[in-house]
Amino acid sequence: MLRKTDHGEIIEFKVSRTAFGRPLYINHFYFIDGLLIDTGPVHTAAEVHKALCKMPIKQIAITHQHEDHTGNSHSLERELKVPVYANSGTLQTMKNPPQIPIYRHLLWGAQPPANGLPLGPKIFTEKYEFDVINTPGHSADHVCFFEPINRWLFCGDLFLGEKLTGFMIGENIADHFQSLAKVIALKPAIMFCGLKGRIENATERLLGKYEQWWDIGLKVKDLHEAGAPGKMIVKAVFGGEYLFYYLSQSNWGRCYMVDTIIENFNIFNEQTKRPEHITGQNS
Ligand SMILES: [Zn+2]
Repeated sequence: MLRKTDHGEIIEFKVSRTAFGRPLYINHFYFIDGLLIDTGPVHTAAEVHKALCKMPIKQIAITHQHEDHTGNSHSLERELKVPVYANSGTLQTMKNPPQIPIYRHLLWGAQPPANGLPLGPKIFTEKYEFDVINTPGHSADHVCFFEPINRWLFCGDLFLGEKLTGFMIGENIADHFQSLAKVIALKPAIMFCGLKGRIENATERLLGKYEQWWDIGLKVKDLHEAGAPGKMIVKAVFGGEYLFYYLSQSNWGRCYMVDTIIENFNIFNEQTKRPEHITGQNS
């Protein structure tokens, strides 16, 4: 499935593998002024190539290493003959893609090995200048692209909605909070999310996520200090695991959010509750 939506100068591509006519997992990627931001998963390659082959793409930038963002970078680079930019961690994974769990094979497909060029601190197009913002958390290599005149934030998988509480193994809550605080300080007006598409009132939405996660952190901290084991904390705070925890063969779940909160207790206190306290800036 591929749907194309014009948002003025920004074109949004919504893609998904389907089963019985239903999308399995939605990904979004974007085109603006000759720049393609992310490429969609390899399972959608035929539709992506058909949609992009006649577009005036001059360069590609990647937000992070996951195969639903990098999947078509190799084939698009070859077909369109344009450079692909990514940060050093993303480039390493693109060059030597790791083994991925079965659910990721089914939803997105394994990324073929791909080459790229290192991202600098900015990306330039004919009309715009994008700041490259390091935003680890969802993955260690994650970056966002920020256009400061219009205050557009291309945020990859940084946001994903306020309510999402599933983490992959290895996600770090302290990095998440640092990165959220960093982009909140930029005061973005509109963000372009890998899962949710175009989102207005971006700063308020990011702040909402930050505050919800902070509340969860304090609850987990209290329960852990009272001696509750992890499983009980997941039940008490969230009402239990996502079904997807089992479908992903335990690779993705709320238990990993609880684990990283417990490992990062020091960041959860009343003095550091606001994002400006983390970044040291006044809002
Ligand atoms: Zn991701």
